[in-house]
Amino acid sequence: MGEILWGFESPFSHFAVGFTMTQNKCPCGSNKEYLLCCAPYHQGEKAPTAEALLRARFSAYALNLPRFIIATTHPDNPAYQKNMQQWEQHISQFSTTHHFEKVEILDITPGEEETTIRFIAHLKRGHYRASFMETSRFVKQNGHWLYRSGVVAEHSS
Ligand SMILES: [Zn+2]
Repeated sequence: MGEILWGFESPFSHFAVGFTMTQNKCPCGSNKEYLLCCAPYHQGEKAPTAEALLRARFSAYALNLPRFIIATTHPDNPAYQKNMQQWEQHISQFSTTHHFEKVEILDITPGEEETTIRFIAHLKRGHYRASFMETSRFVKQNGHWLYRSGVVAEHSS
């Protein structure tokens, strides 16, 4: 069995936090392998679309990569926090207390500079569902998609 555990050696080993070794699938729920899905964006590659960024942010939460969340949040986003250290801790706390099942894209209103995406984030906290529906707005700044704002609607599944 041990031989199958490929792909989590360096340089990706530090991304394996909270990720079971039998599961190479990307935590965003795309059904692709992590290394072929969200990993390149976590490594600093530009997300080509707002959807790719949304997925990469979801899997960053799942893998407890708060710095990626911070780096892809627009400074004008109401969720943006000046105290980075505290913000990082908050994100990390959210990551480690929730199980991130998948993100389900409901619809996309695409644009060159701005894209709106409605999605459901399927989460669990312990045995309880903590899923929510959100409409997120992404804007492109210097060629990078950033999370500009989001409106959450309660979702019960
Ligand atoms: Zn992914």
